[in-house]
Amino acid sequence: MTVHLVGAGPGDPDLLTLRAARLLAEADVVVHDRLVSRGILDLVGPGAALVDVGKRPGDHTWSQDAINDLLTRLGREHRCVVRLKGGDPFVFGRGGEEAAAMRASGIEVRVVPGITSAVAGPAAAGIPVTDRRYASGFTVVTAHLDPHTDRALDWDALARLGTTLVVLMGAGRAGAVAERLQRAGMDPATPVAVVTAATCDDQQTTRTRLDALGSPTVRAPAVIVIGAVAALDVTENDLLSQIAPVLAEGVPA
Ligand code: SAH
Repeated sequence: MTVHLVGAGPGDPDLLTLRAARLLAEADVVVHDRLVSRGILDLVGPGAALVDVGKRPGDHTWSQDAINDLLTRLGREHRCVVRLKGGDPFVFGRGGEEAAAMRASGIEVRVVPGITSAVAGPAAAGIPVTDRRYASGFTVVTAHLDPHTDRALDWDALARLGTTLVVLMGAGRAGAVAERLQRAGMDPATPVAVVTAATCDDQQTTRTRLDALGSPTVRAPAVIVIGAVAALDVTENDLLSQIAPVLAEGVPA
């Protein structure tokens, strides 16, 4: 009778909230996305049904309407339904739309925040999204829409903000994002870090600069961090001093 919109965090099961872990153990049905890791699904109780509505690129078997209908039906039939989403359910997860659809059908909805990859991705690479020395804010955007045609985002303003820019869903458009930001005046030498599969066993971090972002291609899922903090790894030494000369030197043409 209740659908819980639950954030699964960035991948490592240890980064689930206690409430998320408890609900997974108690749920009658768990409806999850593609980015939710195996280790987290292992926490689902033995009697529960598991539904994968994860959409792979190019494969649209589950439309958003179909997911909303499924959740509404399950919400009527079962005591405890968990809608499990990667990261936080309200950061580019369409959690708001799902909640609205269920409320419109009179289903009770509860939200369990999760640790978003927008912050955990950088953190897993030792990058603080804010740091008094380098960035007094951070801005999280999606590159899901083509930066050249997207009117929803003002890339010229983003290039001027001076905050750390965190780009989600940007793997396939990394080069376009970099090009768009440079066209808006952002320094080509701006430090960039790409963190793929953050907090997972195959986590990989690549440090580069804005004019080299996109080649080689970026492996998904990736968080792209753009700004001075991207040159830091505070869990090692402050990498900035070691990386700065490399950044200044530029990339081979
Ligand atoms: N609600 C999620 C974001 C959903 S959009 C959250 O709060 O994290 C999906 C995007 O999130 C991916 O394209 C990628 O940019 C990012 N992402 C999610 N998990 C990630 C991970 N473990 N490592 C790197 N990026 C991740």
